[in-house]
Amino acid sequence: ESGKIENKMRLGPITFPNIEIPTMGIYQYVTSNPNGIKDDKVIFTDSTTDKKLSYGEFKSNSKRLAAGLIDKAGLERGNVLAIISPNQVDYAVVSFGTIIAGGTVTFINPLYTVDELTYQLKDSSAKYIIAFPSVLSNVIRAAAAANIHESNIFLFGDTEINGIKPYSSLISEREANPVEYSPEAAKSTTAYLCYSSGTTGRSKGVETTHFNIVANLAQLCAYDSEVNSDTIYIGLLPFFHIYGLCVIIHLSIFRGASVVVIPKFNLSTFCRIIQDYRVNRITVVPPIVLSLVKDPIVKNYDLSSLRVCVCGAAPLSKELSSEFTKMYNIPIKQGYGLTETSPATHSTKIDNIIPGSIGKPLPNIECKIISEDGEELGVDQPGELCVRGPNIMKGYLNNKEATDSCIDSEGWFHTGDIATVDKSGNFYIIDRVKELIKYKGFQVPPTELEAILLTHPLIADAAVVGVYSEKHATEVPIAYVTLQPNIPQSDQIKKEIEGFIAQQAADHKRLRGGVLFIDQIPKSTSGKILRRLLRDRVKIEHPFY
Ligand code: AMP
Repeated sequence: ESGKIENKMRLGPITFPNIEIPTMGIYQYVTSNPNGIKDDKVIFTDSTTDKKLSYGEFKSNSKRLAAGLIDKAGLERGNVLAIISPNQVDYAVVSFGTIIAGGTVTFINPLYTVDELTYQLKDSSAKYIIAFPSVLSNVIRAAAAANIHESNIFLFGDTEINGIKPYSSLISEREANPVEYSPEAAKSTTAYLCYSSGTTGRSKGVETTHFNIVANLAQLCAYDSEVNSDTIYIGLLPFFHIYGLCVIIHLSIFRGASVVVIPKFNLSTFCRIIQDYRVNRITVVPPIVLSLVKDPIVKNYDLSSLRVCVCGAAPLSKELSSEFTKMYNIPIKQGYGLTETSPATHSTKIDNIIPGSIGKPLPNIECKIISEDGEELGVDQPGELCVRGPNIMKGYLNNKEATDSCIDSEGWFHTGDIATVDKSGNFYIIDRVKELIKYKGFQVPPTELEAILLTHPLIADAAVVGVYSEKHATEVPIAYVTLQPNIPQSDQIKKEIEGFIAQQAADHKRLRGGVLFIDQIPKSTSGKILRRLLRDRVKIEHPFY
């Protein structure tokens, strides 16, 4: 049967029976409305303007936008549309409008530099862009470099700027019929292209199919049915990351929950919104948990509406998790997953929270933990976590080599994370073998920064690794740099190098851990940077330790 995978949970007891995964398009599934949501139920509310979007308006506007994309903009099936915006109340309309019309959506961080925007636009072969007005000048430059015609760029909002029309000009009278997918087509058609560096190298387009997304939503809902029409979320996690996209946008539409949308994190605003909108469920990353525990500002707000906190995208320590629960007297659940797994594979349940654990696998997920030689390990033995299930991506766009290096011939996806499992089947992420660095849940691919560093005239060689800062509850990138011969090392050069990266990479990739000099970057005989040696070394010589 389609989507049904035998559950061979190899480690620990079988935690959950498998479910039948529906095979249909994402729009059809997300709006299948098993809970009988009324059309006037408000789903999205803008926290700054209080603008609201109801369930009925979401569906109608998405279909009318789809019609406009087809009739007025000429969008054809399989065309890629890029959304470049912070969280907006109508983000889901733009995204699902594209999906209904048969397009594929690529989501781009609005804070990217022109070069970073250009890279993703080109790599994804984007043909259309819908962008937030404040980033328009960068978008126009990147679009020109990626050969996207200005007439194919549209703006969020209702205002035309310098000849670029608002997307509302595309909203038609007619509603398009959502493209239907056969079971085979749902499995082979790419709906989303989020970007991830995976185990190594630059960011790559992750081909997430309709089936992958439907599967993960069904898996999440079967595992945990807490989200319903009484749920009031805060829409803070970036919608351009698969975590925000699925756990907030899809889940809230599917279950009829409300989302108060905020485009940018600021602790006071965050707390005020929880207070004013009586938010009861927050989905966050570890540094936000840290501020909620440590910052005295929180005492100025009434946060008594909170019922549950969900934390994911990066490791949450046992201590921080316990402190949070002690202070707020509500459970803090952890979720684990990757862009490549659409995204969730593990989660804790409210009645089984073990601080420091990512919980158990969702239904239809098989797990194994392997040694460096690929041998399957047992309880409490650390090794690489591998997962298999209906939510594993189709592959990296136009990159068979990278796909083959993380999905083996038996369909196991190698996560690049080091995990253990206890005898009750609870998993713990304890380290990472892949080179990826995560700053506050955002990906920082070290090879991208190394490529920029090597263009600096004073630098002979460079390697970037992550160092964990307890103080900020996140990893930060740090660069080891070998200077050209006869260039004296100085603090001024360090500052210049930090500034060089700050100018050429998005803010979350800045060298917040600083720059350290080294006589020679340690490399293997084949020329690969020995990152583990550098990560051990940084623990000795970095002030965060
Ligand atoms: P991304 O594709 O950006 O979601 O990044 C996925 C990576 O984030 C994983 O491979 C992990 O290294 C890390 N990650 C995600 N969730 C967790 C978690 N709950 N605990 C520890 N690491 C996590």
